[in-house]
Amino acid sequence: MADTPTTPAARIVFIGAGPGEADLITVRGARLLAQAQVVLFDALADPGLRDLAPSADWVDVGKRGFSGKEGSDFNGQTRINQLLVAQARSVGQRHGAQAIVARLKGGDPSLFGRLEEELHALREAGIDSEVVPGVTSALAAAAATQRPLTRRGSGRSVSFTTAMTRTGDLQCGMGPGQRADTEVFYMAGRQLAPLSKGLLDAGWPADTEVSVVSRAGWPDMRHTVHTVGSLDDASAIHAGRPTLVIVGAGATEIPDHPLTHIALCGEGSPNSEA
Ligand code: SAH
Repeated sequence: MADTPTTPAARIVFIGAGPGEADLITVRGARLLAQAQVVLFDALADPGLRDLAPSADWVDVGKRGFSGKEGSDFNGQTRINQLLVAQARSVGQRHGAQAIVARLKGGDPSLFGRLEEELHALREAGIDSEVVPGVTSALAAAAATQRPLTRRGSGRSVSFTTAMTRTGDLQCGMGPGQRADTEVFYMAGRQLAPLSKGLLDAGWPADTEVSVVSRAGWPDMRHTVHTVGSLDDASAIHAGRPTLVIVGAGATEIPDHPLTHIALCGEGSPNSEA
C-alpha cells in the first residue's frame, strides 16, 4: 500500500536533453532545468548541460553506474523509479510543492527511454509530473547528414524501431514486410549482421541503401553508407558508440537536381504534391 505523504512533493519534470551537445536542448527544457533543485541524469547527457543548472544537485542514474551490477537492468530501473519518488518528496519537504526535480533523458524522453515505467511509478505515488520533448537522435542524424527522413514521392512514412530485446538479442518477429519507406533502428549497433538478415527476410532488396550514424549531434559523429546486404561492414566502424541505422528512402543522398514531377499513387499526373 502506498504511504500517504504528509508534506507536499516537488513536481518531476522529464526533460529531453537532445542527442548530443548541450545547445540541442529546447528553450523550455533549458528554462525548467535552470529551476530544478535536483537533476537525475543518464550517462549520455553532455556534461555541458550542467552549466544550465550550476547550483542544482546533479545525480548520475545512468544504469551501468547506478545499479552497479552487470545484467541488473530491471533492478536499476526499479531503483530509479524509487529514487524519483524519494527525491520528489524530500525536495518538496525542503523547498515546497513549487520546487522541481528534473529527470533529464537523452534525445526525446518518449522514445526508448523507459518513460512509461517512471510515469507509472509517479502516478502510483500521487506525484505530479510534466514531460518536455527533446530532439530525438534520428532527427539529429537526418539533420547532420542532410538526408531528410521523408522524401516527396518516395518517402511518405518513417518508423522508429528498437532492434533489441531486454536480453540484448535482435528482436524476433521483425517481419514480414517493410514497416515504412524509411525505417530507423535504435540500439542496433551490436546487432548489424542479424539486422541485415532480418531486413532481407522482411523483403528489403539487398542493394537498398543504409545510412549508419553514430554519436549524431556531437563533433565526433561518424557516418557511413552501406547496403542492406553489406550492413555488417559498419560494425567495426561504429563499435562502442550510440548508433542509428536508417534504411530506405531516408538513407539516400538528395538528388543533384530538384524533383519536378512526382506521380500520384496509381496516376501519372505531373507536378502533384507528395
Ligand atoms: N531517447 C533517445 C533514445 C534512447 S535509446 C532518443 O530519443 O534519441 C539509446 C539509443 O538511441 C542508442 O542505442 C542509439 O541507437 C540511439 N542514440 C542515442 N543518442 C544517439 C546519438 N547521439 N547518435 C546516434 N544514436 C543515438
